[in-house]
Amino acid sequence: MENNCLFCKIVAKSIPAAVIYEDEFVLAFLDINPMTLGHTLVIPKIHAENILDLPDDQIDPFFQAVKKIVALLQERLELRGFTIGINHGKMSGQAIDHLHVHIVPRYEGDGGGSLHSVVKNPPQESLEEIQAKIIGK
Ligand code: AMP
Ligand code: ZN
Repeated sequence: MENNCLFCKIVAKSIPAAVIYEDEFVLAFLDINPMTLGHTLVIPKIHAENILDLPDDQIDPFFQAVKKIVALLQERLELRGFTIGINHGKMSGQAIDHLHVHIVPRYEGDGGGSLHSVVKNPPQESLEEIQAKIIGK
């Protein structure tokens, strides 16, 4: 529990949320400012700023829960598609420093694009140059 963390307070139930799933490791609740009907946030119960901060032994239960919640939403809301993502770091627009996966149900004519519409800043470098930077060849 991080003192000034809003999502830690939701885990501690000191701030209310519309919880749709809970287990030992994970809590999922409806986003207070939904992009679409059913927009859900999945968070680990322990405070971790991002996936790099989340202990290795929590990665599996965390993403298992994401899968369960997608299945739950798909079944109960009769959905056919989702956009699923993480804003990781201030640069990406992360506003709350407690890891959360957004699960955004998609609807016919909802006006949204695919993940490709989030940013358009293609590199000048070739894929080979970038590959070499990443894997150090
Ligand atoms: P991000 O930009 O990825 O950090 O998104 C933070 C998300 O948290 C936003 O979509 C907010 O609408 C959502 N949010 C903020 N406060 C609450 C709250 N009290 N309950 C549920 N969702 C919240
Ligand atoms: Zn927290």
